[in-house]
Amino acid sequence: MNKTPFSLETVPCSVSPLSFDPDKCVGCNACVEACQIDVLVPAGAVKSTPFAAWPGECWYCGACVMECPVSGAVTLRHPLMNQARFVEAESVIKRV
Ligand code: SF4
Ligand code: SF4
Repeated sequence: MNKTPFSLETVPCSVSPLSFDPDKCVGCNACVEACQIDVLVPAGAVKSTPFAAWPGECWYCGACVMECPVSGAVTLRHPLMNQARFVEAESVIKRV
């Protein structure tokens, strides 16, 4: 069977929720399998690591990071709106 080559670029978007470290990623694609909305393109299809082809569709659920067997191979950056929810009450109290 002949393989049909293809290329796939990331859809331009104002957010970049995920980054992959090519030095740590082993290309197992566990993160890709964990993503329920198929945001990620598998490692080996286009790049050596997975990548988010549709970053604006990411739910920031963190499943891809939780399933990754290698610490630091994939990093999820929450938008500022989400980060505000994780501010520890103690640090807020100290500033007041
Ligand atoms: S954070 Fe959730 S929605 Fe976003 S790429 Fe990872 S698994 Fe998919
Ligand atoms: S689960 Fe982790 S090691 Fe496996 S492909 Fe995804 S980022 Fe790479």
